[in-house]
Amino acid sequence: MSEQTPLKILIVDDDELDRIAIRRALAKAKKVMDIDEASEFAQATQLLRVNRYDCLLFDYRLGGRNGLELIKKIQSEGLSHAPIVMLSGLDDERVMLNCLKEGAQDFLLKSEITTNSLVRAIRYAQERKQIALQMRFLAQHDTLTGLANRSLFIDSVKRAIMQARRDNSYFALIFIDVDNFKNINDTLGHEAGDELLTTIAQRIKASIRGEDIVGRLGGDEFSVLISGVTTQSSLIKIAQQLLESIREPVILYNKTIHTSISLGIATYPTCSDEASALIKCADLAMYKAKQNGRNNYCFYSEDLQRLADEYANIKIDLQHALVRNEFELYYQPQINASDGSIAGVEALIRWHHPTRGLVPPDDFIPIAETSGLINPIGDWVIDKACLQLKTWISDYNLEHSNLTMAINMSAHQIQQIDITEKVSLVINKYKLPCPQVELELTESILIDDLERCKTKLEALSEQEIQLAIDDFGTGFSSFRHLQQLPLKILKIDKSFIDDICTARKSREIVKAMIVMARALDMAVVAEGVETEDQAILLRELGCDKLQGYYFSKPLCAHDLGQMLAHPEMIPAISDTPRPVDNKLTILLVDDDDLDAKAVERMLKKQDDPPKLERAINGLQALEMLRARSGPQIKLPYLVLLDLNMPKMGGIELLEEIRKDTKLQNSVIFVLTTSSADKDKVAAYGRHVAGYIVKSELGADYHRLSSMLNVYQKTVSLLQ
Ligand code: C2E
Ligand code: CA
Ligand code: CA
Repeated sequence: MSEQTPLKILIVDDDELDRIAIRRALAKAKKVMDIDEASEFAQATQLLRVNRYDCLLFDYRLGGRNGLELIKKIQSEGLSHAPIVMLSGLDDERVMLNCLKEGAQDFLLKSEITTNSLVRAIRYAQERKQIALQMRFLAQHDTLTGLANRSLFIDSVKRAIMQARRDNSYFALIFIDVDNFKNINDTLGHEAGDELLTTIAQRIKASIRGEDIVGRLGGDEFSVLISGVTTQSSLIKIAQQLLESIREPVILYNKTIHTSISLGIATYPTCSDEASALIKCADLAMYKAKQNGRNNYCFYSEDLQRLADEYANIKIDLQHALVRNEFELYYQPQINASDGSIAGVEALIRWHHPTRGLVPPDDFIPIAETSGLINPIGDWVIDKACLQLKTWISDYNLEHSNLTMAINMSAHQIQQIDITEKVSLVINKYKLPCPQVELELTESILIDDLERCKTKLEALSEQEIQLAIDDFGTGFSSFRHLQQLPLKILKIDKSFIDDICTARKSREIVKAMIVMARALDMAVVAEGVETEDQAILLRELGCDKLQGYYFSKPLCAHDLGQMLAHPEMIPAISDTPRPVDNKLTILLVDDDDLDAKAVERMLKKQDDPPKLERAINGLQALEMLRARSGPQIKLPYLVLLDLNMPKMGGIELLEEIRKDTKLQNSVIFVLTTSSADKDKVAAYGRHVAGYIVKSELGADYHRLSSMLNVYQKTVSLLQ
């Protein structure tokens, strides 16, 4: 520690005079010190929780408690790693020895305290503590690889279990065993064996995230604790990365060694909720992997294993799918919002699997991506889609139609060095105009490697190939990406379109996306348009192209050709815009006409007056509510309820509404002449949103108006 940094010391002593004496002794030391004092146990623990000390000076006697208890508390709760010097008035060796045993580094008799003796004790204590920490590290780590040893690893698993229990999360254990390690040891010697183990340890560490824990459990056995994984596919990915990283040959004493590992995976809490049992599960799974031919991984849980096998099978079958000609492209039309004509199509791949039938792309594209098969498959898609566009243009005389072909691209495809040449080669081969070919990229591609992507995308864009950002709004693209990359088309993700007619928030977001796209000179395509109302609204909002089941599902080439030949097959978009029903409707339930008039007047004065419906008693109100409710009352809907009415009164109506599963979530404000506590209790007991006494409203009902405004704002936020 340098001379400038003060040594931070905590004195814990119940005797004020002693504390002053210690402080005085320390003040004479050359070293600058920053001293805190505590006079009792609780104050000491409080200070330890918030400060980091370099040394702790404890009196043995602390009122009702003693210094030994304090040491124990520090150790059990990990309150501090600072060295501890015990100070004692008694010349009691046994007590002091106990303190040393529990973790104090040194002790001093108060009668012997001088500046020199204190400073020396502090220095020795610090040195001893350092050595103790070093010893503990050595005791918990493997000397060859520096990884956690078995006992520390088991402790880490126990801690992970406690953590996972607390926050209801999952984690996985991967048990790793080096294949044929004994051979290497026997043929090349132990030194070479050690070197190989060190390399393997480094590679394991390099293939996982920094926060995951790796341990060496013995000989050639390692284990990894992976927390924060939620999907099986991410575990598969990690397992594959581990296998791959070890498969890289190792040079040992000028010899190239090929090695591999077998992995067993167990997950908490699926396999077990106890640390050693969990490790055993992973170990057993590893044995299964060895039996299956090594260089492999295996899940302990059968369900997970079945999925992993399926994954492996699909991967094998995918390798043959291209040569066996099992892929087919389907095409989904994109409709011009302005005139309902076909502006273009998006090519969507399908796989005719010999036994599984038609496999959708979401089930195999991710596997193709992790196994490197996406590039040859992607090449096929580009060629096939361009050929198809060429064929349609000549079959249906579409030379002047500007019909576009949108092709989906994976991240891996864009990363190929020759992607630009590849695409333009195909376009030239079929003599297609470049602007009629669009490449769709998802947000994640663009973010992972912006700089490298940028050069490639610019090269593509210079040839006037159109670039689209797909599934917009689901990833993390920033305005910077949109600004820096030559993107020409923005495809709004289906999730925003789904509730565009019912949720104001989605509508506002889509509106904003379109405004932004306009400002950046991008065209906008809405995906997943399923109803005419959505189409009408999107056209209103200024969307350029519409794509979705309302117009057509993806079709095989022949069927799409039919649609090109007979555009009248495409469902039309009506010219009459439909008003969006997001206006607040209020049902006023009140038998008093004068009161009803007052409410009506007040509402009319509002900027955006809500619709008003009226019922004169509970029975009629119930009827109206039931007629209005579908599976659930359409929001925003609000009931203003009087309590005293003939036929069915307010409380009775409330009772009925809360019993009815379709109506029970209605928002109800009581509006009554009664200010009696018993009525308030009855109303609030039936979950009314507010209780308003008419006489307190004043002539203009202004307070009611502001309450309704607040409600309206809340509702529009919730939608
Ligand atoms: P995507 O690019 O977002 O494609 C749109 C998906 O939404 C398609 O699913 C399409 O059939 C579906 N869809 C279109 N309109 C509607 C609608 O109104 N309602 C509903 N519910 N769905 C609609 P598909 O064909 O299963 O493709 C899934 C994903 O697979 C695609 O999502 C795309 O990311 C990927 N994909 C498809 N073909 C290829 C390809 O050739 N290469 C690559 N790399 N990925 C592809
Ligand atoms: Ca797409
Ligand atoms: Ca999409």
